[in-house]
Amino acid sequence: MQTYPDVKLLINGEWRDAIGGETLPVIDPATEEVIGKIAHARKADLDLALEAADKGFKVWRDTSPFERSKLMRKAADLLRARVDDIAYMMTREQGKPLAQSKMEVMGAADTIDWFAEEARRTYGQIIPARFTGVSQMAIKLPVGPVAAFTPWNFPLNQVVRKLSAALATGCSIIVKAPEETPASPAELIRAFVDAGVPAGVVNLVYGIPAEISEYLIAHPVIRKISFTGSTPVGKHLAALAGKYMKRATMELGGHAPVMIFDDADLEKAIEVTAAAKFRNAGQVCVAPTRFLVQEGIADRFTQGFVKATQAIKVGNGLEDGVTMGPLANERRIPVMEDMIHDAVAKGAEVKTGGKRIGNKGYFFEPTVIADVPTSAKMMNEEPFGPLAIINRFSHYEEAIEEANRLPFGLASYAFTGSVKTAHALGRQVEAGMLTINHNGLALPEVPFGGIKDSGYGTEGGSEAVEAYLETKYVTQMN
Ligand code: NAD
Repeated sequence: MQTYPDVKLLINGEWRDAIGGETLPVIDPATEEVIGKIAHARKADLDLALEAADKGFKVWRDTSPFERSKLMRKAADLLRARVDDIAYMMTREQGKPLAQSKMEVMGAADTIDWFAEEARRTYGQIIPARFTGVSQMAIKLPVGPVAAFTPWNFPLNQVVRKLSAALATGCSIIVKAPEETPASPAELIRAFVDAGVPAGVVNLVYGIPAEISEYLIAHPVIRKISFTGSTPVGKHLAALAGKYMKRATMELGGHAPVMIFDDADLEKAIEVTAAAKFRNAGQVCVAPTRFLVQEGIADRFTQGFVKATQAIKVGNGLEDGVTMGPLANERRIPVMEDMIHDAVAKGAEVKTGGKRIGNKGYFFEPTVIADVPTSAKMMNEEPFGPLAIINRFSHYEEAIEEANRLPFGLASYAFTGSVKTAHALGRQVEAGMLTINHNGLALPEVPFGGIKDSGYGTEGGSEAVEAYLETKYVTQMN
């Protein structure tokens, strides 16, 4: 029988309780039952983790990229072999359907493999010199111990990008994984420990996020920060990183526009965007949110999208046939309710959904809401839930203006049969990512990141590796 474990800290290769013995409860969002507990780190535990990361870095930076790559691939294989147990834990703690949890575990293994390959290609440069007998080299070195802060929506996926890039390049890392969903990321890290990554290279802590981030970011051992979460928290952490002159990657909130033009393949647009919208109950930073549909196709699109929304089966993610689980935590329910009340009061129309389901578990109806004025909260703040906003536009410029209106710039989507429109969008949409006529986001080998208030840096593709490297210039005369 599959079980949900109590979760410990990992410090210097040892799974251990917090020094003070404190713990935090873990709640199943589908049943509201306490299913386990996690060790709660305080400063004394963080000091041990920092010491371990410092020591681990000195070992790992001198481990050859070839060897690092081998260990990483072994961890990926262990993860695949353990997929069923890890997916069960993820569904219990986060709520998403089991099939989505399994996909996340398998996706994490693919990500590790990709970064393991890149580990062997962190090439520098030989720069032609002006004078005979002089050599000039730009060499790539790991930036140093990393502090990574990750959220609860993709318990593995958010950790694995940071962890894999750090390990590929020879950095050590302290992961502050999400307190709400702690067991599955701990299992990800266990795969690396079991694969033979040396003690201290990977450390795992949980506790009070602000307490941990303020302590780690300021600490001289830490050389790089990577954070995924909301824009306000990201700005705060980026300011701290600036104060202490630490490198930083910030993957923050979004409010993705979806532009659907009259010449789009309607069925395809409905199928792709409904799947993307309600995956993980909409708790996805790249989820399509503001649907901007051209007038000629708007009624048919709305009808079809509402039908697809009503076909979603909401329930406990462990049950067969369930396609959407609960929200991951209780605090999201009043946020969703407030956004919907506010929009309706300002003249919007709920086409389907709009309410909490029952009073046990954090279930919320998949919701479609149309004709929402730009003054409504949901048009300006990230809903981060199962909520699609459908508005209309008449011409291209109007769609672009609305798409670019917000300070966010993470993902964007478009559907059009026109190559000319597609090219124009590629240049004019202010977003870190644009996917046209399909959903092609978030593969390990492609860039993944935002611009404007959605952050900076990318967590996919070769630039994700670069983010954990320093360039050192060495010149020498014979
Ligand atoms: P929140 O702003 O309280 O927290 C967001 C994340 O940041 C959480 O994982 C939290 O543990 C962490 N955090 C908060 N304060 C921190 C600090 N001082 N130092 C380090 N980490 C800190 O919001 P929430 O209620 O957990 O989530 C809701 C909002 O967060 C959403 O509206 C969404 O914008 C954002 N979010 C984004 C992502 C993403 O993938 N980009 C993931 C989860 C949440």
